Amino acid sequence: MSDDAMKLVVVGAAGRMGQALIRLIHATDGVTLHAAVARPGSAFIGKDAGEIAGLGPIGIPMTDDPLAAFLHAEGVIDFTMPATSVTFAGLAAQARIVHIIGTTGCSDEDEAKFKAAARHARIVKSGNMGLGINLLSVLVEQAARALPSNDWDIEVLEMHHRHKVDAPSGTALLLGQAAAKGRGIDLNDSSVRVRDGHTGPRPAGTIGFATLRGGGVVGDHSVIFASESERLTLSHNAGDRSLFARGALQAALWARDKKPGFYSMLDVLGLSTR
Ligand code: NAD
Repeated sequence: MSDDAMKLVVVGAAGRMGQALIRLIHATDGVTLHAAVARPGSAFIGKDAGEIAGLGPIGIPMTDDPLAAFLHAEGVIDFTMPATSVTFAGLAAQARIVHIIGTTGCSDEDEAKFKAAARHARIVKSGNMGLGINLLSVLVEQAARALPSNDWDIEVLEMHHRHKVDAPSGTALLLGQAAAKGRGIDLNDSSVRVRDGHTGPRPAGTIGFATLRGGGVVGDHSVIFASESERLTLSHNAGDRSLFARGALQAALWARDKKPGFYSMLDVLGLSTR
């Protein structure tokens, strides 16, 4: 480990993404695990974070004290739950450290709190930390801009593992936002999130979402552009969680020397069209 390795705290350290992050930090030059934070009351508190992640002991016990964990850290990587991420955003802003947020299912109120915290912290937040989906979102925005809404309908289809608790996925919403941006419309006013029963015909100009859940699927997404006579499908399939963890570490290293602000993975990857 080099002396200037970035000291990172993983919160939600016992979770699926938390464990993937601990394994990847261990295997990556330029970053080091400073602390691992689990949910208060978790049976993992006091256990070695490396053991939980399947690495064997690494000498870092899981803690439920984020304040102590953030002291002398440079960044926190957070794939947890919306209310938890809001709390950690306040603490990371106080500690003036980088906060990478992968948590999905956040409300508009949560987003406003993240943006307030970003006056003091460097926050990178994305519903998907991977290069492939972020590139896909740029392509979706272009396609939505090029294909006129009176002829072409847009549907976003996603499938995830049976444990996922929010729907549509953060990635599906990210792709829907990209399509709405390309169309010059507000996704909140024009999305159809559920269909059931006698729905009537499809309202023109809307962006539809369909959600599948089952098995161990890490994340499959398709954006379908459908006209009367042709169909264009842009798709992505995630193979394993390490791709999100890799993106999160890349974001932390990118944000290390940035000014406080609210950034996305498009900024990190140089794909931003803002
Ligand atoms: P998970 O349920 O396996 O892990 C979440 C962990 O957070 C749990 O271990 C839980 O105990 C912990 N947690 C909750 N409250 C806490 C607290 N106060 N302090 C410390 N830890 C706390 O879920 P997961 O599959 O790892 O996903 C986590 C989140 O990340 C979800 O919102 C998921 O949708 C999202 N996700 C995002 C991306 C992305 O690229 N942005 C990729 C995968 C998953």
